[in-house]
Amino acid sequence: MNFELTEQQKLVRRSVREFAQSVLAPVAPNFDREAKYSWDIVKELSKINLFGIQLPEKYGGADLDSLSYAITIEEISRICASTGLMLSVHNSVGAYPIYNWGTEEQKEKYLPDIATGKKISGFSWTEPNAGSDAQGIECIMVQEGNEFVLNGSKIFVTNGSIGSVILIGTRYKTNDGQKGIATIILEKDMEGYEIGQPEDKM
Ligand SMILES: Cc1cc2nc3c(=O)[nH]c(=O)nc-3n(C[C@H](O)[C@H](O)[C@H](O)COP(=O)(O)OP(=O)(O)OC[C@H]3O[C@@H](n4cnc5c(N)ncnc54)[C@H](O)[C@@H]3O)c2cc1C
Repeated sequence: MNFELTEQQKLVRRSVREFAQSVLAPVAPNFDREAKYSWDIVKELSKINLFGIQLPEKYGGADLDSLSYAITIEEISRICASTGLMLSVHNSVGAYPIYNWGTEEQKEKYLPDIATGKKISGFSWTEPNAGSDAQGIECIMVQEGNEFVLNGSKIFVTNGSIGSVILIGTRYKTNDGQKGIATIILEKDMEGYEIGQPEDKM
């Protein structure tokens, strides 16, 4: 088995490392100290296409392989763990499920903005009474006529305060008696969507 990186993977490592050292290193300590994120950095990350690392070019992504994705997150996290976590959640549990399991309509609607970082994505399953035991979630979505009404609250949502497309784990009940657990796409601007206070993590 060949464990050597390909030329493209080496190029990814070199360019992301250079970016992290020159652009992120000077500002990274502020993110942790002030518990704030910078939209200027989001723009810089977008310029080097880090918001759609494994998404196809058709949706504006960089279409890189999984190892290049891992190298990217490793290089960013060496310098700024917050940015590494923001990017990994956005790429792996925000963008990827939409790409892999979404309908073509959902992909066309969400992925181009996700791939440029115009919309930051996240994934929200954990609740006060459901962590490791993921099927213990109490959030519930009930069909009312042609609409679904969602009720519940979530905790520990990485990208929760800056994200505008969040995948939510919920129970559901339909008019015709179907019920189960699903992941749905929620947008920040939807009626009733509220963001709580950030956790004090330091
Ligand atoms: C920095 C950070 C970011 C996060 N981001 C997100 C996010 O973006 N989206 C999201 O949905 N969640 C997120 N989470 C939540 C995270 O996924 C949960 O914390 C995790 O699922 C564990 O749940 P819990 O904290 O309720 O711990 P618990 O489930 O209460 O577990 C507590 C301890 O008990 C152990 N334990 C639990 N069940 C068993 C068992 N059956 N047998 C043996 N040991 C067990 C666990 O290993 C753990 O050590 C984040 C958490 C952190 C810390």
